[in-house]
Amino acid sequence: MKIVLLGPPGAGKGTLAVKAKEYYAIPHISTGDLFRNNIKNETELGKKVKAILAAGGLVPDSVTIDMVKNRIAEDDCKNGFILDGFPRTIAQAEALAELCDLDAVVDFVVDNEDVIARLSGRRMCPSTGRLYHILFNPPKVEGKDDDTGEDLIQRDDDKPEAISHRLEVYAEQTQPLIDYYKEKGLLVDIDASGKPEDVFENMKKSL
Ligand code: ADP
Ligand code: ADP
Repeated sequence: MKIVLLGPPGAGKGTLAVKAKEYYAIPHISTGDLFRNNIKNETELGKKVKAILAAGGLVPDSVTIDMVKNRIAEDDCKNGFILDGFPRTIAQAEALAELCDLDAVVDFVVDNEDVIARLSGRRMCPSTGRLYHILFNPPKVEGKDDDTGEDLIQRDDDKPEAISHRLEVYAEQTQPLIDYYKEKGLLVDIDASGKPEDVFENMKKSL
């Protein structure tokens, strides 16, 4: 199964992808995680995209498309994959259509207030990328990862200035994909306002 998770930053796509990858036994490909790993490892790509991510802008299409093309050509993707955070522009969607046929595009429907609350409380384990929320999914010990005990971090782009910019970028560049995929008959809307377990049930039923 080849699926795309679509929705604004903070909609809960990454959280759901972790559940879905176990359930469907296919890899979770998050372009944000791929970029962040490149930044952490100080690769050439990482150096190129660091400032863009910190400001909440979009990495150029050509760079992003090449990265995804290489990733989905890997062996573990032969039975399908969950794309999280890609495509984010019409040009990326068109490039993806050249690479494969999708089974569904799951659109996370959640209002702006929830998105802002989710983003501003998001915390992450720097080495594993495991996600937490200070109120909705707190770690066992405040500020520490449950498994590794590392200090949790807040992403630079989850600070207020970058959040509002990212929501504008989403509205301008990514939201048009909703109509694009609706016209192709691939769009599945899911109510993403409830708890992650409920959202996952909605997603399983819709797929
Ligand atoms: P979120 O989970 O909050 O939606 P991501 O982790 O998906 O954020 O992405 C973080 C950042 O990585 C984006 O703000 C953008 O700078 C960059 N990025 C991720 N995916 C893409 C993409 N498909 N096209 C361009 N830039 C991207
Ligand atoms: P996205 O990948 O769409 O940017 P995330 O999965 O990273 O979103 O979720 C953003 C934040 O909201 C995280 O801190 C996560 O723990 C929290 N979160 C995710 N799903 C829910 C939910 N259904 N209800 C409440 N909080 C959630």
